[in-house]
Amino acid sequence: MRWKTGRRSQNIEDRRGLRISKRAGLGGGSIGIVILILIAMFLDIDPRIIMQGAEILDSGFQSSQTETQPIFAGQEEAREFTSVILADTEDTWKVLFPEQLNKSYKEPTLVLFSGVVQSACGFAQAAMGPFYCPADQKVYIDLDFFDDLKKLGAPGDFARAYVIAHEIGHHIQTLLGISNHVMTLRKSINETQRNALSVRLELQADCFAGVWAHNAHRSRNILESGDVEEGLNAATAIGDDRLQKQSQGYIIPESFTHGSSEQRVRWFKKGLESGKISDCDTFKAKKL
Ligand SMILES: [Zn+2]
Repeated sequence: MRWKTGRRSQNIEDRRGLRISKRAGLGGGSIGIVILILIAMFLDIDPRIIMQGAEILDSGFQSSQTETQPIFAGQEEAREFTSVILADTEDTWKVLFPEQLNKSYKEPTLVLFSGVVQSACGFAQAAMGPFYCPADQKVYIDLDFFDDLKKLGAPGDFARAYVIAHEIGHHIQTLLGISNHVMTLRKSINETQRNALSVRLELQADCFAGVWAHNAHRSRNILESGDVEEGLNAATAIGDDRLQKQSQGYIIPESFTHGSSEQRVRWFKKGLESGKISDCDTFKAKKL
């Protein structure tokens, strides 16, 4: 991907190294650190992540705005990259909304966190992967996820861009009222139906990620050879069937919430090839 000269987004909220809750009484030396380790063990998080956070608190670190946070030195490029991709989604959707929907686009915020984070949708840990919270219209990402993506067999910058663009896809759904509609529907259906609905929602976010890539490339020529394959490979790697097979050795299609690898590839590709929002109606599609 050609991204290094791209614009950086102003909508990044850096919460890496921040305390979880003021009321937890953290930052009080060793007792605070012990509590932190207990929290970490309870949540199944690597305690070192929290220890680093505690050290920052103890040295009087308060602001999340500081650019140079030494413990995250290894994440600098990932942070830059994320900022550029976010900016590109802003520039792309700002054009597509009026052009294709006769609406205006509202930019989301992207929160960087380390280990654990509090969102308007609740408390989340990094192991859950990146997510979007419709209640505060923010995307949450722990940059370490990019390493996990590599471990899952999806290396490459465009694989990362696809993941960010997918989360932005959920923001598009919120702006279009789709998320809200699905939330209402969810209340009156059983679990199998809820999972099926969730799959449609996720595949649409994949399709929107493809729409972004199509239009970003048309305007700014971001894709290099091999990038599309990286994106498709990432869609394959994080399909429910692949992940279930890896974790439990067998597949239960009714429990899918994101779609199979094949479906994720198909919808991402659909958006990527056409560049049209209207081609992403996974809710009307007979075959997913
Ligand atoms: Zn999703």
